[in-house]
Amino acid sequence: MSQATQAAEKKTMRPPIESGCPDGFQYLHPLMIKNFGNWKYHDRPRPGVLHHVAHSGDEIWTVRVGTTRQLDTYALNLLCDIIDQYGEGYVRFTIRSNMEIMVSKWEKVEPLIKALNDAGYPVGGTGNSVTMISHTQGWLHCDIPGTDAAGVVKALMDELHEEFVTEDMPNRVHITTSCCQINCGGQGDIAINIQHTKPPKINHDLVANVCERPSVVARCPVAAIRPAMVNGKPSLEVDEKKCICCGACFPPCPPMQINDPEHSKLAIWVGGKNSNARSKPTFHKLVAAGIPNNPPRWPEAAAIVKKILRVYKQDAKDWERMSDWVDRIGWPRFFELTELPFTKFHVDNWRGSRYTLNASTHIRF
Ligand code: SF4
Ligand code: SF4
Repeated sequence: MSQATQAAEKKTMRPPIESGCPDGFQYLHPLMIKNFGNWKYHDRPRPGVLHHVAHSGDEIWTVRVGTTRQLDTYALNLLCDIIDQYGEGYVRFTIRSNMEIMVSKWEKVEPLIKALNDAGYPVGGTGNSVTMISHTQGWLHCDIPGTDAAGVVKALMDELHEEFVTEDMPNRVHITTSCCQINCGGQGDIAINIQHTKPPKINHDLVANVCERPSVVARCPVAAIRPAMVNGKPSLEVDEKKCICCGACFPPCPPMQINDPEHSKLAIWVGGKNSNARSKPTFHKLVAAGIPNNPPRWPEAAAIVKKILRVYKQDAKDWERMSDWVDRIGWPRFFELTELPFTKFHVDNWRGSRYTLNASTHIRF
């Protein structure tokens, strides 16, 4: 190929396909684009409504509406119709799956809220409220959950509706859920996480066909899995004394079944948060374990969460986040006030973790 042809081909080369997030500016309300970086102040005229005023004098109101996160097409169409009819056609999602609808006139706010409420969607989640629970995928999308996530959220938010539509908490409350022990999840003022309590049961007939045995052995953080021959077939075995029931072997090897209707439980953790302008991040701590994983309403987990919230609301000072409150009163007092039993299982005294857990930056999975 001549140099001229090569140069011509280079010139017409197809540009690379960018497959990241689309540019968000194209979806912004025109007033937000116009005043980008030029906002003077903001306030909250009522729970669930944000009001931003620009240096130019422009004003914009944002109505925050709680959703179930996993929205079917019926719900999406209904919400979009409301947004087109009562809003101005602009909406965005928050990281906790609330929808925020922007309008340029205060007169539009109340009719919009009424239409949303009439359709069964609460407006709130701003300021010192219990905002929408952030949750993982659960049974709908993921292949390894031990419980549902959206279902726990729906059941709990039904019970915490009052705390979503008002701003009566000492500070904001972020609740999270995680439907396995190893992946998504996150730090929360209150976190509801799955907790496996028995080692995996192995279906030896399937292991050789389905699992890459060295990968599965490498997955275990405590080296409890060994290759083994069972009934003349290559399989795996688990040293149950070592197994910490983390569930990490199940994703690469589904025949190592760890989810169990009776032995997969829920655990509740308290006091986690991300860092902010004033304080460092904190890790949440286990406060209740062995709670039945009891769909469709998870009443036992809901009762404990409500109790913790009630005590926090009564006892914390203004602006104390859950972790600040516990730091001030101490964990013994926390257990006294919440009447949760403190057992030996709350004490993390397992020294083996220093040598075997993935504590370095060289994470294997
Ligand atoms: S937390 Fe675990 S089970 Fe739940 S969606 Fe994430 S990876 Fe899947
Ligand atoms: S559940 Fe966790 S600790 Fe137990 S065998 Fe599987 S990977 Fe290892």
